[in-house]
Amino acid sequence: MTPCKHQTLEYVGDQKTDEGVNSYYKCKACGALLVVTPARKVISIPGVGEQSTCGKQNPSS
Ligand SMILES: [Zn+2]
Repeated sequence: MTPCKHQTLEYVGDQKTDEGVNSYYKCKACGALLVVTPARKVISIPGVGEQSTCGKQNPSS
């Protein structure tokens, strides 16, 4: 369940939502993001080193 072919996912943190807690993981190699939602759905967001579907990413701090 990785967003890319690397195996270097690093736990970033949690974000509380109305439905529970989202868990965020980030690939150290390419910056791809993996989000695990409270419903255990996995969302992959490709990093800069992979194919990107959207050119304007706005990293929030
Ligand atoms: Zn990667």
